Amino acid sequence: MNIKVTKTKASRLKDVDFERLEFGDIFSDHMVSMDYRNGRWLEPEIVPYGAMEIFPALCTFHYGQAIFEGLKGFYGSDGSIKIFRPERYHARMIRSSKRLCIPPVDFETFIGSLRGLLAVDKEWIPRKKGYSLYIRPFIIAMDNFLGVKVSDTYRFMIITSPVGAYYKEGINPVKLVTSGEYVRAVRGGLGTAKTPANYAASLLPGEEAKHNGFTQVLWLDGVERKYIEEVGTMNIFFVIGDELITPPLEGSVLDGITRQTVIHLWKDLGRKVTERRISIDEVLSCAMGGSLTEVFGTGTAAVISPVGEIQHGNVRAGVNSGKIGPMTQFLYDEITGIQYGERPDRFNWCHTVQ
Ligand SMILES: *Cc1c(COP(=O)(O)O)cnc(C)c1O
Repeated sequence: MNIKVTKTKASRLKDVDFERLEFGDIFSDHMVSMDYRNGRWLEPEIVPYGAMEIFPALCTFHYGQAIFEGLKGFYGSDGSIKIFRPERYHARMIRSSKRLCIPPVDFETFIGSLRGLLAVDKEWIPRKKGYSLYIRPFIIAMDNFLGVKVSDTYRFMIITSPVGAYYKEGINPVKLVTSGEYVRAVRGGLGTAKTPANYAASLLPGEEAKHNGFTQVLWLDGVERKYIEEVGTMNIFFVIGDELITPPLEGSVLDGITRQTVIHLWKDLGRKVTERRISIDEVLSCAMGGSLTEVFGTGTAAVISPVGEIQHGNVRAGVNSGKIGPMTQFLYDEITGIQYGERPDRFNWCHTVQ
């Protein structure tokens, strides 16, 4: 693939402290940009990261026709650059595109332009353990109009950000709370697509949760307000007895790649994973009865995040005395070990780009 590259004249690399990175507030020097016009995607280009010209009537501002992805790149222990399961993230981007009436970007263009970007910005990939390069591909509608309709023009972009831990808690347990009032998504809505609208729906309840001392909202289903769905930026798993339970993908929960990875690793251990509806009442009663031993969230940004506390109405349940459990720790170590090339990549999940 031949991509036109325009390099920055003023790299910001020297301003970055790679020993102390937070999440998502620094962007590498370059980005991928590719336009869709006259019914087809044009050639991708790599250009300096920076402002771009858009107009106030941009339909994305008004109607939210946009999708995104989030994946990670690493330096392996052998010095190679790896991306974790890119074909899975790309497949989900295609599914999100369909739901939002956005023309699909094929895998060759996706991975080829990403490979080009990482070659230009390889110094931006952190080498410290626990750190990575967060990769954010996205597509926005580019028409300017105020009537509601599907756009005729689009822009595909990839920006990257060297990141540390997603939560300030790091791998320490987070606190979740259900929302008595709001829902994130309903079956038939946008919940299965990675699209900004889902996050717009979650901002107010998320702020309320933070105000009350919680890390994130634990979403219940939008119809009965009874069954657990996910955490907004993470899918969720419960260890009850010797079983690992996660809510099924029934049309409102996002199909997380880390969720897929956890299910695969767990089954590979010869252990049982059940994708089934699980109510908040069941979780609370198992927590009280002592059979709920671990709860964790899964997502690319945080990888595996232990949950130490769940609050629902006036009921508060602690999990594993607020400490990370052995299964949660195992999964974190196994997945990050594979990502950093410290453990065997038995399922060929790491795509070596250079
Ligand atoms: C991205 C995301 C997740 C996690 O998915 P991963 O592919 O594991 O990163 C979970 N829930 C929602 C709503 C998301 O947007």
